Amino acid sequence: MVKIASNGQCLFCKGTFSKQTMAKHLVACEKRATAIKGASRQRVFHLLVEGRYAPQYWLHLEASANATLQDIDGLLRDLWLECCGHLSAFHLNGRTYSGAAMEEFDDEDMNIALEKVLRSKMKFRHEYDFGTTTELELKVLAEREGLMKRGGLLVVARNEEPVYQCSACKKTATQICSQCVFEGSPFVCDDCAEEHECGEDMLLPVVNSPRMGMCGYTG
Ligand SMILES: [Zn+2]
Ligand SMILES: [Zn+2]
Ligand SMILES: [Zn+2]
Ligand SMILES: [Zn+2]
Repeated sequence: MVKIASNGQCLFCKGTFSKQTMAKHLVACEKRATAIKGASRQRVFHLLVEGRYAPQYWLHLEASANATLQDIDGLLRDLWLECCGHLSAFHLNGRTYSGAAMEEFDDEDMNIALEKVLRSKMKFRHEYDFGTTTELELKVLAEREGLMKRGGLLVVARNEEPVYQCSACKKTATQICSQCVFEGSPFVCDDCAEEHECGEDMLLPVVNSPRMGMCGYTG
């Protein structure tokens, strides 16, 4: 994969900031302060979510302390992960929290309030699909009193879509080979797609997600 510096957009003021400076900006952003006026005062977790092996995909998330792990799972599926309804789980504090169907394996139910399991500075993991797994890393950057809807979740910043080069002609890639994705050069442009050795059936669109190129993920 092509390594690039990762910028992202503050979804309140539309300003562009680097991955490193975004957390600081969000605290100071005036548009954000205005946008959350009117909600009630409560405990809020500020989370950073990123691809475990693809950290160029990242999100800043604000979550009401009474939102659940399941709510976060749903948001991650909508935004980044859902291809064909695979199982998923969180790993934190040495425990596994999964959907109700997995409780027979001694897992906890992910329908549990964040305030019961999260603490400031805690790191934890999310896995989607236990076959072709997409692994995410989550970190509680801060815990504070803030204005928010009860049980609410808010994506407050997100990475800009990375640009990849076609492995054959170096033009901007539009497709990724789901077979070559685990090896060297999976990206192709529209012109080179026909000639890709694995066949066009293996190609998936380039999308802004750490699940790009896996299973049947089309964004
Ligand atoms: Zn801003
Ligand atoms: Zn799938
Ligand atoms: Zn090409
Ligand atoms: Zn291929």
